[in-house]
Amino acid sequence: MSFRSTYADIDIPDLDLHSFLFGSGEGHADPAIVDTASLQTYSFAQLADAVDRVAAGLAERGLGHGDVAALFSPNCADYPVVFHGIIRADAVASTVNCLYTEAELAHQLRDAGAKILFASTAGLERARAAVAHEGVRVEEIIVLGPVRAGAGSVPETAFADLLATRAAPPAITTAADDLAALPYSSGTTGLPKGVMLTHRNLVANLLQADPLSRIQPGSRLLAVLPLSHIYAMTGIMNQGLRLRATTFTMPRFDLAAFLAAIAEHRIDHLYVVPPIALALATSPLVDEHDLTSLDLVMSAAAPLDARLARAVGDRLGATVVQGYGLTECSPCTHGIPPDRTDIDRGSIGILMPNVQARVVDPTTGEDAAPGQRGEMWCRGPNVMRGYLNNPEATAATVDSDGYLHTGDVVTVDDGGVFRVVDRLKELIKYNGYQIAPAELEAVLLAHEAIADVAVIGAPGPDGGEIPKAFITRETSHPDLTAEEVLAFAAAHLAPYKKIREVAFVDQIPKSPTGKILRKELRQRSAPDRSPD
Ligand code: AMP
Repeated sequence: MSFRSTYADIDIPDLDLHSFLFGSGEGHADPAIVDTASLQTYSFAQLADAVDRVAAGLAERGLGHGDVAALFSPNCADYPVVFHGIIRADAVASTVNCLYTEAELAHQLRDAGAKILFASTAGLERARAAVAHEGVRVEEIIVLGPVRAGAGSVPETAFADLLATRAAPPAITTAADDLAALPYSSGTTGLPKGVMLTHRNLVANLLQADPLSRIQPGSRLLAVLPLSHIYAMTGIMNQGLRLRATTFTMPRFDLAAFLAAIAEHRIDHLYVVPPIALALATSPLVDEHDLTSLDLVMSAAAPLDARLARAVGDRLGATVVQGYGLTECSPCTHGIPPDRTDIDRGSIGILMPNVQARVVDPTTGEDAAPGQRGEMWCRGPNVMRGYLNNPEATAATVDSDGYLHTGDVVTVDDGGVFRVVDRLKELIKYNGYQIAPAELEAVLLAHEAIADVAVIGAPGPDGGEIPKAFITRETSHPDLTAEEVLAFAAAHLAPYKKIREVAFVDQIPKSPTGKILRKELRQRSAPDRSPD
């Protein structure tokens, strides 16, 4: 069956993101961004001015149409300034997870062809090492913080010096269909790929997600989720700027600091992933803080259980809603509007405006029968242009009718409420972060004692998923232990990508064409296997 949103279609303005967010010229003194750690603050007027300065500085360096600048930083007050400065310069912002190792960062820089790298002081050593990798074309690192003397292979500039530029920003020549952002996602299979999001994609999704919040001028949003990921990039940072709310940035998640920030800054809109929802429902620390300012808690990026949603809502006295999306859709396609108390909180809700969906039997490619499960395909103005330099992966993901094949299995009830019931794609979600099994497998295969490996998402202790490796040892290394495997993976991967469980097997199950039979491995890891 195919489904249309029950909302009337919205007209998407033919504007670049900068003109859409800052075009009214109405700068004012209200705070736009406040960092909860440093208390550094930008008012809307200061933010608009700083964005112009960054754009002017980048234009002076020759960065312009279609060029890529990468942003490797935890959340901070400067984050939106850099992101929008890059976009204002008619260039493309490739956001990098700040937990990435040097090798992971180098992969993204090389693949994206980034010319400039903005890096936090905490990430500077990894940034310096990554830009020295072969094939990386970064010409300058701009350091968010003081520049320490170092033996970097490219020039380094302090962000403050970039902001001090006296040049005028370039005229805006950006078209709505130009590229704006290049976050990375592994999609349904393989390694992380550059997701080409246009200005139109990002503008559209801000308008499409309107039914999911109660943000008004002066609302107070907490951004603890990484702004490098599309959920916080669109859902918090850009939505907050558009609706003239104040966004409070936190560099990392720490439960005590998180609760203290909600209380101190009287946060009303909170954006979480299910493990944070679990902490809100169960931690005794919650009772030590005044969280009465909270109005709306949005959970997305991984499945939220209905009972957990209720427990959070009851404990906090706030409305809990669930959203669904993916990087390739900028991200939001579904959600539960806060006033729709009739919709089960364990579902992903209804289609957002301008989104169409099909639910397709993956074996036949035909529409699934009403009420039956099938792979969800989505179409709308928020669907990416494609994967950077990867026409094969693009063609395998977006079909000739413009439908993006999500790799998620859903059911839909008579009221048009969608539920995610399974995942066809390889992707593992850990704490809301993406993990690509192919990436972990490539790392492990480099170990001399490992002959073959397959990584899957196995059920974790908190109801989420954990990466589990099935390994065949080299016959010359029969003594390889699980601890050695865990330590090797931990040394080569960002902390959240660590392998958390190992099983040694004689053989990795594969199809005649050599494809890993992940379903078979998942069944072996299922918690409730019947005895037969
Ligand atoms: P990402 O591109 O990192 O945002 O990951 C997108 C994927 O996360 C989706 O394709 C789903 O598999 C999963 N996902 C996002 N939101 C939800 C949700 N509310 N429930 C279940 N899975 C979700």
